[in-house]
Formats: sequence, C-alpha cells, structure tokens
Amino acid sequence: MSSSPAFTISGYSTARYATWFFIDELGLLLDAGDGLIAGLMSKAAKIKHIAVSHPDRDHLSGLLHFLKLFGGQGVPTIYYPESSGSFPALAEFSQRFDPDQPGRPDWKPIASGAEVVLGSGLVLRAQANRHVPCESGQTKSVSFSLLRKIRKLKPEHRHLTGPEIGALKKSLGEAAITDEVEHTELIYTADTPIEPASRWGPTKILIHECTFLDAATAESKHQIARHSYLDAVLDIAAELQPQHLILTHFSARYGADEIREAIRAGATKRQLGLPTYAVLPGETVHNILGHVPVYAPA
Ligand SMILES: [Zn+2]
Repeated sequence: MSSSPAFTISGYSTARYATWFFIDELGLLLDAGDGLIAGLMSKAAKIKHIAVSHPDRDHLSGLLHFLKLFGGQGVPTIYYPESSGSFPALAEFSQRFDPDQPGRPDWKPIASGAEVVLGSGLVLRAQANRHVPCESGQTKSVSFSLLRKIRKLKPEHRHLTGPEIGALKKSLGEAAITDEVEHTELIYTADTPIEPASRWGPTKILIHECTFLDAATAESKHQIARHSYLDAVLDIAAELQPQHLILTHFSARYGADEIREAIRAGATKRQLGLPTYAVLPGETVHNILGHVPVYAPA
C-alpha cells in the first residue's frame, strides 16, 4: 500500500565519493558528504540537525563548508558516533581553520540507542552497525531511525466519552491514562553490511545502501562485511514492506541503465509491492519521492 510521502527528501549518494540526505520538514541532514552546499545552496540554511553515521570522508567532508557559511552559536547540532575520535578532532580543527565563525556549533557524541528529540513528536534514534569494525561496547558507525511517538489512551478507558476522558486526565494526569506508542517513519541504514530484516523492523520509508549489484562482486572485493548488495536488499524490502524504498550508495562502476535494469528485474522477480527509487551515481536528486520510481508495482 502506497500513500503520499510525509517527507521531502533530497540527496546525493555515490559510494566512495559522497553521501548526504536532507529532509526539509525537519531541517535534518543525514550524513554530510561533499557537495551538500552545492546541491542545496540557500536551502542549506534550513539545516538545524546534522546526524553523521561514521567518520569516512565521503560522509563528512561537506561539514567545514557548511559550518563556515551557516554555523552559529549552538547551530547546528552535529551528532556523531561516540567512539569516533575524528569528530572532536574536526571540531577543533574547524575552530582553528575558521576562527571568525560567529559561534560554535553543538557537537554531540551519541551512543547506540541514543535518541534525539526533533520536535512534533519525532525522535531520531541511533543504532550501532557493523560498517566500521570496533571493539564491543564501542560505537563508531550507526544507522538512524526516525520515530513518531504518540500517547494513546489505555484500552480500559476507550469506552469513555470525550468529557469523561477530559475529567480523568485532569485527576490522574495524561501519563497515567495513556501508553506511549511509537511508529517508525523512516530508516536510514547508512553504510552497512546486510542484516536480517528484523533488525530494521517495519517502517514507512526505507533508505537502504546498495553499494553492489551482485554479491559476487562484493565478495571478490572483500567488501561484503561492510556493504550491501541488491538481491539481499530487495529480500529485506520484500519482508518489511515499507511504503517507499530508496536505494542509495551505488558503486560508480555501474552505469545508470545497468542499475535501473537490475532493480526492475529483481523487484519484478519478487513481485515487490512497493515503489522503488534510486539515487544513481553522480546525481543530486531533489525531492526523491516526487520522482517517477525506477520500479512500481503493476
Ligand atoms: Zn560510504
């Protein structure tokens, strides 16, 4: 089942070169690779939160330029995996490199499971992934989930009328008569090896990295422990059934037509029931979900 998407997502993502995604409605930038300023231009002024998945250069090299143009005191907040020393080093370097910046941005280390409140009931949650090997207990690479949290009336009160609920809320407080319920609006896997679909769980929008079109190429490059490949990503999508699938982070070794054909063949084979979009190598795509999908169910 497809419905109109709640988010305007723009971005660029080519393995090795650069990756960034911007969600207009939230002023949220997911990863901060090179070209984000050139791609967003004045719209970059709307960025309030930057969540960086890991310290590879292709995911953070747009930061310096962004901070020079749009950074201020406490703005933006930059979230990064807590065990990565590259970010404190970059924060310090950025301050020395551009000493006339009008203020210091807010650099915040995040652990796996940490949640960031974005407002309007939306929360961004980090989840450690295996892209960057590290000792257990450390977090050097994360994926992000965007969760909507709402308070729902407990079942035992659902027979009550509006005024009755109002009175109960007044006497007991909202927390006592409601349960917190969360739905996943969006998952951004960032760079990750293939994981079981259950790791991600149901979501409306799935942005999954898809560096390789086939497992054999990935295996021959010993990259399969760090990155994902198309067949396995489509299996995950078939199991999770998001409303929209966005495939990203393709290797530049593939041509656009080759990628589109592989997606169509794989999705058709699985009779995938959801529109599938692709951010192709070298392309900045504005409002990804406003484009004609590469594959749409018949
Ligand atoms: Zn990458």
